[in-house]
Amino acid sequence: MDQTQLAVIGAGPGGYAAAFLAADMGMQVTLIDPELNPGGVCLYRGCIPSKALLHVAKVIDESRQAANWGVIFGPPKLDLDRMRVWKGEVVEKLTGGLGVLSGKRKINYIQGRGRLENATTLSIELADGKSDSLTFEHAIIATGSAPALIPNFPPTSTRIWDSTSALEIPSLPKRLLVIGGGYIGLELGSVYASIGSKVTVVEMMPTLLPGADADLVRPLAKKLEGEFAAIHLETKVQELTETKNGCAVTLQGGDKSWNETFDAVLVSVGRRPLSADLGLENTEVQTDDKGFILVDAKRRTGEPSIYAIGDVAGEPMLAHKATHEGRTAVEAILGEPAVFEPAAIPAVVFTDPEIAWAGLTEDEAKSQDREIQVARFPWTASGRATTLDRFDGVTKLILEPKTERVLGIGMCGPGAGELIAEGVLAIEMAATAKDLELTIHPHPTLSETVMGAAEVFFGTATDLYRPRKKKG
Ligand code: FAD
Repeated sequence: MDQTQLAVIGAGPGGYAAAFLAADMGMQVTLIDPELNPGGVCLYRGCIPSKALLHVAKVIDESRQAANWGVIFGPPKLDLDRMRVWKGEVVEKLTGGLGVLSGKRKINYIQGRGRLENATTLSIELADGKSDSLTFEHAIIATGSAPALIPNFPPTSTRIWDSTSALEIPSLPKRLLVIGGGYIGLELGSVYASIGSKVTVVEMMPTLLPGADADLVRPLAKKLEGEFAAIHLETKVQELTETKNGCAVTLQGGDKSWNETFDAVLVSVGRRPLSADLGLENTEVQTDDKGFILVDAKRRTGEPSIYAIGDVAGEPMLAHKATHEGRTAVEAILGEPAVFEPAAIPAVVFTDPEIAWAGLTEDEAKSQDREIQVARFPWTASGRATTLDRFDGVTKLILEPKTERVLGIGMCGPGAGELIAEGVLAIEMAATAKDLELTIHPHPTLSETVMGAAEVFFGTATDLYRPRKKKG
C-alpha cells in the first residue's frame, strides 16, 4: 500500500491549485483524477472550451457589425471540424501545461478514481482497470460537479445535450432549445446562435440570469432578443420526447401550453455536486440535502483528516472560488491561520455584452433592508465605448452612504469580465468612492467608467451632467 502526506481527490482548479501549493510548501502530494492531465471540468468541459467558442462567436458578430465602420465581410464560411480541433488544441495546451507543472513539482499524479475506505485510506480504481490503495495523513476532496438532470426527462443523446455534449458541437441544429436561462445556457446559446442555429431559451423564473441585478441583465436581454428566435420567461418544459425527426416539446407559460419541435435540446438547469460514490459513509464527512459537503471556514469537514473545496463544497460553483478554497485548505493543513472569508467573489457571464458583478447586489441590499446608494455611469458617456461602437454598457457602484465604502460593483458591457477585478480589489481593501475617484485611470479605456461612477456619486462627473441630489 502506497503512502502520501496529502491526497487530493480531483484535479480541477480547486484540486490542482491545492496540490501545487502543497508541493511548493514541501509536502509530499498525490493527485488523483480520471483525466490524463490536471484541469477538471473547468479546462476539459467548462470555462476554457466555452470561452474558446465564445471567442469564435465574437469574431463572427463583429464581422457583421463592421459594415457600420466601412468594412464589409461576406457571410462567414464555417469549418466545424477545424473549430472543434482548435478548441481541442486550446484545452490540450493548457491541460498539458498543467501536467508538466505537476511533474516539475514531483507530484505523484494518478489517473484514476478515488474512494474513501476510512479516514486515512483511499482505494483507487486506476484508468487501466487495475486498482490500488493509498494511505494519507490528510486528504482534500475536490471532485467538483456534473450537469443537473431534469427528473423523468430522457437521458442525453445525439439530440438531447448537456453542456459537455454541446461543447463538442455534435451537429449544427437548425432549431435549438436551451432549457435554462442561467449563464451556461446563455453562453452556449450565444455560440450556437452565432454559428447559425435558431435558438429558443426557456426559463422558469421571471428574468434571465436570476441572481444578477435586473439593470445589468436588461442590455443583454435586449440584444439576445434580436439574436435568439425566442426567449420564454416564466415558462416550463412540461414534456420532452425524442422522435425520429427531432425533439417534441410541450411548453407551459402562465395559463398557456403549446407544442414545438426542435432539432436539438440543451439542458442547462444547473449543476450537482459529485459527493456520492466517494465512500463518505466510511468517514465522518457530512453532506447537506443537496449533496454539498459541509465544511467550516478552513474547509475542514467533520473528519479531522479530510478537507473539501470547490463545487463539491458549496456555492458559488466557480473556478476561482475553488482555487482560493484549495489554497486556504492547504494553509490550514500547514497550521497557518487561514480562513476562506472573501468580501467578494466575482461572477462573470461571458456573453456579449458581458455581465459581471461582485460583493453586495442591489437585490441583496433590498432583501436585507440595507441602506445603500447606487452610482451609475452609462457607457454612452465613455469615449472608449464610443470608439468600439458599443453604447449598451453600464458600470455601477453600490455604496454605504455613511462611510462612502464600496460594498458592491456591477457592470454590463464588452470586457466587463476583465474590468470587474478593480471593483473586487476595492471591496476587499475597503476602498471608498473617494479612493476610486482619486485613482488616475488611463484614457481612453473602459476602466474609466469605474472612476466615472465614483464621480457620479459625488455629483461631479466630468463626462456627465448629474448634479448630486441635495439632502432634505
Ligand atoms: P472540477 O473542475 O469539477 O474538477 C473535479 C475533478 O474531479 C474532475 O476532473 C472530475 O472528473 C474529478 N473527479 C470526480 N470524482 C472523482 C473521484 N472519485 N476521484 C478522482 N477524481 C474525481 N466557472 C468559472 O469560474 N468561470 C467560467 O467561465 C465558467 N464557465 C463554465 C462553463 C461551463 C460550460 C461549465 C460546465 C462550467 C463553467 N464554470 C465556470 C464552472 C467551473 O467549471 C467549476 O466551478 C470548476 O471547474 C470547479 O472546480 P473544482 O476544482 O471544484 O472541480
